[in-house]
Amino acid sequence: MYKINENYLKLPGSYLFSNIGKKVAAYKEANPDKDVISLGIGDVTQPLCPAVIDAMHKAVDEMANAETFHGYAPDLGYEFLRSAIRDNDYKARGVDIALDEIFVSDGAKSDSGNIGDIFSVDNKIAVCDPVYPVYVDTNAMAGRTGEYIAEQERWSNVIYMPCTKATNFAPELPKETPDIIYLCFPNNPTGSTITKSQLQEWVDYANKVGAVIIYDAAYEAYISEDDVPHTIYECDGAKTCAIELRSFSKNAGFTGTRLGFTVIPKELKSNGVMLNSLWARRHGTKFNGAPYIIQRAGEAVYSEAGKAQTKEQVAYYMNNAKVIMDGLKNAGFSVSGGVNAPYVWLETPDGMSSWEFFDHLLTNANIVGTPGSGFGPSGEGYFRLTAFGTYENTLKAIERIKSL
Ligand SMILES: *Cc1c(COP(=O)(O)O)cnc(C)c1O
Repeated sequence: MYKINENYLKLPGSYLFSNIGKKVAAYKEANPDKDVISLGIGDVTQPLCPAVIDAMHKAVDEMANAETFHGYAPDLGYEFLRSAIRDNDYKARGVDIALDEIFVSDGAKSDSGNIGDIFSVDNKIAVCDPVYPVYVDTNAMAGRTGEYIAEQERWSNVIYMPCTKATNFAPELPKETPDIIYLCFPNNPTGSTITKSQLQEWVDYANKVGAVIIYDAAYEAYISEDDVPHTIYECDGAKTCAIELRSFSKNAGFTGTRLGFTVIPKELKSNGVMLNSLWARRHGTKFNGAPYIIQRAGEAVYSEAGKAQTKEQVAYYMNNAKVIMDGLKNAGFSVSGGVNAPYVWLETPDGMSSWEFFDHLLTNANIVGTPGSGFGPSGEGYFRLTAFGTYENTLKAIERIKSL
């Protein structure tokens, strides 16, 4: 008799966004005349830029000819893309990353889950609380998180690092020593960042205790402040303790196109074993490679035109973020984020819970946002609004919130 992976049975039933979807659908059905605006989406809305579209068209034509056709992609990704990544994301920032330390993938969500394959079940993870739920959920599926304690909405074997107003939305070094530390900056959902010297403390700590940091830099393109690092490898000693995850989703609109990459330096070793080799083995065996057409699209993001056009898209979203920040501040809300990330994090007013505020906003302003409690226990009492909507809808939504 076959057996299933019973870790899946421990996962709490309903996923945050399906709960939201159900509530919104029910509200719309009961109120068909209402114009409901979503500031809850964690997905981009601007189309792929012309430089990317041109590159894809060209690559499609190449696939139509025997001389220029491409079959299976190389395991690590095409060299044209990996050198563009090395030169633009690393060399240009004074960081020396080798081509065979870059692994092209179908995105940071897959990588942040799959990376667990190269680690023993017997590792204790530490996560920022609140944070992108994928880290905890995938570790739960692997059997690393212990038991789920429903009343506390937390797992028994996870070190939660609260990121609240009291800590300026940054994690503090944990009292209990973790093996694997997930850091995500700029952060989803809080939009918070840490400075290079703060990140250096994490790198020093990880090297000292023998932990590995998995650094999710999916929002790197949104950084506007000078003292915020764009890559963890700007910190001394990061190559011996850190893996970095990157994505083309939020900087260039590839959420439906799919492309990302992971960096694993060869210096990163556990008892003398290179994690780079393990991941190369895993990548070659379990991943079929991102399609040629999509890798050409990714290369185009680094062309002069691609850089200018994607920068404009990021600026568009960040202008929305400013509208949300300014509007909420004027309306008396306590807000953070929104400066280096397309997320604005607000404290719910009048002691409302995150879900109470969700209902309040939906019913009285016809606006959909995301309850902070969905991102971890310390998100209770907070709420996320995103800047990924249109400018017009963002303005309209903020006017409604102001007149609540
Ligand atoms: C959106 C998001 C991702 C997803 O990246 P993909 O490349 O689209 O899989 C990864 N990490 C965080 C924190 C995100 O918010």
